[in-house]
Amino acid sequence: MYDIVVIGAGPGGIAAAQEAKRLGARVALVEKEKIGGVCLNKGCIPTKALINKAKAFKETQKNISKGIFSGNIRAEWSEMLENAVSVVGVGRGGIESAIKSLGVDLYYGKAAIFSGNKVRVEESEGAEVELNYEKGVVVAVGSEPKKFKEFNQFEGNAVLYSDDIFKLRELPNKILIVGGGAMGCEFASLFANLGAEVILVEYFSTLLPKILDEDFSRSTIMREFKKPPKKINVITGASLKDIEKDCSGKITAALSDNQFFEVDKILIAAGRTVNSEIFGDLKSENIADKNILFIGDAKGVCGTAYIADKEGVDAVNLLLQDNNDCMSCIDANSFLCVYRDMEVSQCLSKNILVPYVIFSDPEIAVVGLTEKLATEKGIKIRIAKYLYRQMGRSHCDGEVAGEVKMLVNADDNRVVGVQLFGDCATEIIQIAYVLMNQKIFYEGWIDLLWPHPVYGEIFKEALKTLKR
Ligand SMILES: Cc1cc2nc3c(=O)[nH]c(=O)nc-3n(C[C@H](O)[C@H](O)[C@H](O)COP(=O)(O)OP(=O)(O)OC[C@H]3O[C@@H](n4cnc5c(N)ncnc54)[C@H](O)[C@@H]3O)c2cc1C
Repeated sequence: MYDIVVIGAGPGGIAAAQEAKRLGARVALVEKEKIGGVCLNKGCIPTKALINKAKAFKETQKNISKGIFSGNIRAEWSEMLENAVSVVGVGRGGIESAIKSLGVDLYYGKAAIFSGNKVRVEESEGAEVELNYEKGVVVAVGSEPKKFKEFNQFEGNAVLYSDDIFKLRELPNKILIVGGGAMGCEFASLFANLGAEVILVEYFSTLLPKILDEDFSRSTIMREFKKPPKKINVITGASLKDIEKDCSGKITAALSDNQFFEVDKILIAAGRTVNSEIFGDLKSENIADKNILFIGDAKGVCGTAYIADKEGVDAVNLLLQDNNDCMSCIDANSFLCVYRDMEVSQCLSKNILVPYVIFSDPEIAVVGLTEKLATEKGIKIRIAKYLYRQMGRSHCDGEVAGEVKMLVNADDNRVVGVQLFGDCATEIIQIAYVLMNQKIFYEGWIDLLWPHPVYGEIFKEALKTLKR
């Protein structure tokens, strides 16, 4: 008998299992594929390992005229992939031994939830194990790429989804990427930095429409992506309408705005869908009072690893301790968490700040309100902006593209939103997140000591412009 059964060993499930152990519970963790979930095996980690190498390749080429000399530099895709696979392998080994040494019982197989407080696990070769639980189940089964049925026939050769890039044998010369969200922008940067020609297609009028103000998107990522040597062809307000592949293997993508592109591959990075096959004889409508909590991507919105992690911890606290004070405040009357609408706007309406990072080149990071949302909420704001090229550090590093846009509530002088574009944005956003969480007045940000020359100075310098 277990106290808790956790289904899915991605970041959410692992955090839940660890927290349950920390609270002294008997816990089983079930995984149908590989420990670490999408994050470790197909998402955050291997993509960032590839993005890092692609950026290093670009940087090395750029530095050659600046005092660094070398022979012929080339990027070998297969070796970069091998490196990413080995990074993933190290992570998997570490997590598996940490989980086991904590005393979590780890089962490999596909789990389904049955009435009578049971979870059945279909192990390999038809064997089945039944796990009984007392307190509850944490469903952390994650998501997978949303497939477009109309392009089924091209899947695996002409058409790729995010999982497929790890199977790519060679770097495409020309690739069309569908989706100008986080994944699309990261993949566009990856392939462009390795020298591929990239066409990035976004349905809305700007890239990253959910998290960036239109003006900020246009003056930053949309402008930089188009600049040589990257030369990403950004097409907004359009979608992929049709694909043709002729007998010689030539692939033509037709867009809704009547543009046609001959490419080597089409990568669809537009949306994900929940892994929903987890019910045995139970139906979703009668699980509300059965202490079955959904967390992470399984809630049905495209989430992040750190939100899944936080929700895993909170779910277990709710099941074991009836602790409703946890940050993600899981609603016990619903089988979904309050975090199910993980749109930035909805979090803000609950006073939950969520930092969000994108590993494009240059990087993007945001926290809090956009100007559009602040206006919709009727908040009177003052806007502070500052450019990377105004900072010493950017010139030392030779990368001056970048900008910050900060929103300050004109009534109480607190910072309510930050949009950041530039080197190290994904690291320094945490400074803004912490100070915003502490509700420090903007003058308090300026009064702090900011080491020099560091990228974080950009917050202080931007806010100083409000005092002039
Ligand atoms: C290309 C890409 C890049 C990303 N980059 C980032 C990033 O940089 N930062 C970030 O925070 N997030 C990133 N994400 C998102 C992040 O990976 C997910 O939000 C996160 O993995 C969700 O964690 P989870 O625990 O909810 O689910 P998952 O990580 O999806 O894990 C779910 C696990 O459940 C298992 N499972 C499913 N059904 C069953 C079943 N019936 N029985 C047993 N096991 C089952 C699956 O095999 C899987 O291992 C990225 C995603 C992608 C695709």
